[in-house]
Amino acid sequence: MVLKYESTRNRSVNVRPSEAVVKGLSDDGGLFVPRALDQFKIDIKEMCTLGFHDTAKKILRLFFPDFTEEQINDSVMNAYDSKFDDEAIVPVKKVGDQFIMELFHGSTIAFKDIALSILPHLMKKAQSNCNMEEDIVILTATSGDTGKAALEGFKNVEGTKIIVFYPNDGVSPVQEKQMVTTEGENTYVVAVEGNFDDAQTAVKEILNDSALREKLGDMGMKFSSANSINIGRLVPQISYYFSTYADLVKRAEIKIGEAINFVVPTGNFGNILACYFAKQLGLPVGKLICAANENNVLYDFLSTGIYDINRAFKKTMSPSMDILISSNLERLLYFMSDKDNAYVAELMKDLKTEKRYEVNDAIKVKLKNEFWSSYCSEADTAMTVKAVYEAYDYVLDTHTAVAYKVYEDYLSATGDPRKTVILSTASPFKFTGSVYKALFGETETEELELMQALSAKTGVSVPQQIEGLGERKVLHDRFCTPETMSDEILKILSDKEQK
Ligand SMILES: *Cc1c(COP(=O)(O)O)cnc(C)c1O
Repeated sequence: MVLKYESTRNRSVNVRPSEAVVKGLSDDGGLFVPRALDQFKIDIKEMCTLGFHDTAKKILRLFFPDFTEEQINDSVMNAYDSKFDDEAIVPVKKVGDQFIMELFHGSTIAFKDIALSILPHLMKKAQSNCNMEEDIVILTATSGDTGKAALEGFKNVEGTKIIVFYPNDGVSPVQEKQMVTTEGENTYVVAVEGNFDDAQTAVKEILNDSALREKLGDMGMKFSSANSINIGRLVPQISYYFSTYADLVKRAEIKIGEAINFVVPTGNFGNILACYFAKQLGLPVGKLICAANENNVLYDFLSTGIYDINRAFKKTMSPSMDILISSNLERLLYFMSDKDNAYVAELMKDLKTEKRYEVNDAIKVKLKNEFWSSYCSEADTAMTVKAVYEAYDYVLDTHTAVAYKVYEDYLSATGDPRKTVILSTASPFKFTGSVYKALFGETETEELELMQALSAKTGVSVPQQIEGLGERKVLHDRFCTPETMSDEILKILSDKEQK
């Protein structure tokens, strides 16, 4: 049997794994999913003997069987190399009684590096597997972290161009500076008036615009996506759930087969969906704990079954989670509705027209069984950064603090004795301003200059990945509105001058 990916919204759309990676999004607006997911099985005993690289290879082979063994090995070894400042790639630390999975040791010090270090390799190989001649144009909307990680991943990759759109006032100064100083002949960064949802919605519409696709075809180019709507981005994220589990087994913290919980600071629902996939593959997972910030649309959904974006968008100190439309939820709905494509299509239509949908009772029950959710206020986020530092001398970033606080809520609500891993999705230096303020109070100093002060006061060194960031030269200053995004793309792509 050759594994096929279908659209969440249409069962008759069927593509091979490589094509799903190259396309990014199905033409009908749906996301690619493997119908046969429940037939994939992993030998957990064997997995527990493997390190990160071999775990990643096993997972990728399962999801991308039309790649050769060599293609998979090559992708994994080139992605997870000395770009990471920790040999373990994803080390697990013990802080008090809690386990913290540190996902921020890659080149842009956020968890997006895990997937985006490997996606360009997978995409190039997928392109050759599909005999595709066109250049790939990666379109990416970012709430801050995806953008830089994707730029670093695709920078100077032959046969690709990457265009990143970020919300003009929606990212941290460190995030913005990281993006606009990106080098590379094929990288473009554009500030968009509006918030992340505006940018993401516009990107999805552009990817679905058949006239524009045709224009691109005439230029010998093809769009793809580096957002977590791309299955090639999602699958690599499954690896660290297994490698962390194996790590805890090796350290004799748990026995093989023992269920553990994961707490995931959630935005676009990619990371936590990878956990759901891991569980489907046989990883012993108890509850998937979904941590939200004040944009608590997911908390409401997981508690009521009603997804409602008729609400104000809030800017918080955990900006990578400032999202109202969580794209990957669509994949969860597909699996939870027993792969009912028509039903998913209907819900997505409701979301578009009514800005709201409600799932049926069967799904509500499943959601309750699998997930637990809560959300963390701005004040509690800051308080948690400070409390954890004072108690354990460990500096949390703001997103991780949201997860930490939600886990405390979970413990007091349930008393669940299972071992639990909190996912840490960014280095505290990526959000220096908010972290410094939470620990030491207000300051007049600009964020980029605060890094040294944060380091001096906490004794944690500034990651070498962002050292000297303040002095780097700004190389990108494009700006547009959501309405003019497609014009901006055409301008960039038809630009004859060298950058
Ligand atoms: C992207 C991001 C998240 C949210 O992850 P999703 O997969 O979008 O749910 C959380 N924290 C940080 C630091 C991020 O960059």
